Amino acid sequence: MAKEVQTQAGRCSTHGTVKATREVPQTGFPFVVYGPWRAVAQRRPFLCPECGAAVQPDGPAAAWAGGDF
Ligand SMILES: [Zn+2]
Repeated sequence: MAKEVQTQAGRCSTHGTVKATREVPQTGFPFVVYGPWRAVAQRRPFLCPECGAAVQPDGPAAAWAGGDF
């Protein structure tokens, strides 16, 4: 299963500003399966590389990260 690692500058309550990461499945055939799955993964929080805690996204992504599509 191909995975894509997305990175995002975020704020960990323990470690401060970190380069947070999350894995999302890469889109592939059949798209009807991967599309929604990927969409769900995209909504997961980014995780601190140090402790694995969810971090608050920083920057432009923060504007929509907390809202509904
Ligand atoms: Zn941390």
